[in-house]
Amino acid sequence: MSRSVLVTGGNRGIGLAVARELAAAGDAVAVTYRSGEPPEGLFGVRCDVTSTEDVNAAFEKVEAEQGPARVVVANAGITKDTLLAIMNEESFTSVIDTNLTGAFRVAKRAVKPMMRARGGRIILVSSVVAMLGSAGQTNYAASKAGLIGFARSLAREIGSRNITVNVVAPGFVDTDMTAVLGEDQQAAIRSIIPLGRIAQPEEVARTVRFLASDDAAYITGAVIPVDGGLGMGH
Ligand code: NDP
Repeated sequence: MSRSVLVTGGNRGIGLAVARELAAAGDAVAVTYRSGEPPEGLFGVRCDVTSTEDVNAAFEKVEAEQGPARVVVANAGITKDTLLAIMNEESFTSVIDTNLTGAFRVAKRAVKPMMRARGGRIILVSSVVAMLGSAGQTNYAASKAGLIGFARSLAREIGSRNITVNVVAPGFVDTDMTAVLGEDQQAAIRSIIPLGRIAQPEEVARTVRFLASDDAAYITGAVIPVDGGLGMGH
């Protein structure tokens, strides 16, 4: 059965791969984008997740186009890497505002229609560094670790309404976010990943598809690593 799905940051990278994967599985998929054109074949809504008005308006457009979102993937995220000693406060708060408070705005708007429908799936895109830590990423790791406590608390709040809340924690994935790393840095990263390679966005997307599927109906509050073994032992 086709469900209404919304993926934030679905115009490129992991979000786009997730959107394409769910659309291929038969869902009606909407994506948010901030500028330019939405990807072909997907319903695009302009939305900056740092704006509550934008988020609420995006959900309304999705509801009008394809019905209330039954699957919501909070994927939009940014990095502003630097060592804490030289990190300014804006670099900290803007990463938290996008990655963590952005997911709060999206999940908050998503839950009421899901509660009324007595069903839904919320999937948050965190990162291996949430639990592993990463020098130069105190802001980013804090935002991604925050998503885990957020998801687990929300999972407890709305589990009785048949809504699951899960976290996907990717390792290094081949997107614009990691393209900024030099070849030396990429080689160093590959050397510490047990599977010896960086992931393709589709490999994360397939895990999201599983969490959104009937087969994952009894999974909630989980953190699923898709990291080639990098975070093993979490
Ligand atoms: P990209 O940089 O390729 O894409 C980021 C996406 O987020 C874009 O669609 C971007 O939209 C959107 N976005 C950023 N800020 C906002 C905002 N304020 N409002 C709305 N949308 C926004 O990143 P990835 O695809 O690599 O990352 C996707 C998610 O996966 C992120 O949460 C990231 O932290 C996480 N992740 C990525 C890993 C990696 O190695 N790549 C590893 C672990 C986690 P726009 O095009 O408008 O900028």
